[in-house]
Amino acid sequence: MKDITKKYSNGEVTIVWKPTICAHSAICFRGLGEVFHPKELPWITPEKSTTEKIIEQVKKCPSGALSYYLNKEE
Ligand code: SF4
Repeated sequence: MKDITKKYSNGEVTIVWKPTICAHSAICFRGLGEVFHPKELPWITPEKSTTEKIIEQVKKCPSGALSYYLNKEE
């Protein structure tokens, strides 16, 4: 299977999403609906929240499909 990786940034933090391992568990959009909203495109809009809240939510992804890095670390 192709290793697809999508990235979404608010300028400070970048959310990395791997659709092939996403379990569609809904935890991300139940927890932080202003950033994660699967019925819209792009489905992740990190500019709608704070870096702190995004990191907290990304860490709760059960499948490991979501990860993040701080842009200054790149
Ligand atoms: S929390 Fe993770 S596994 Fe669940 S829908 Fe979001 S990205 Fe997919």
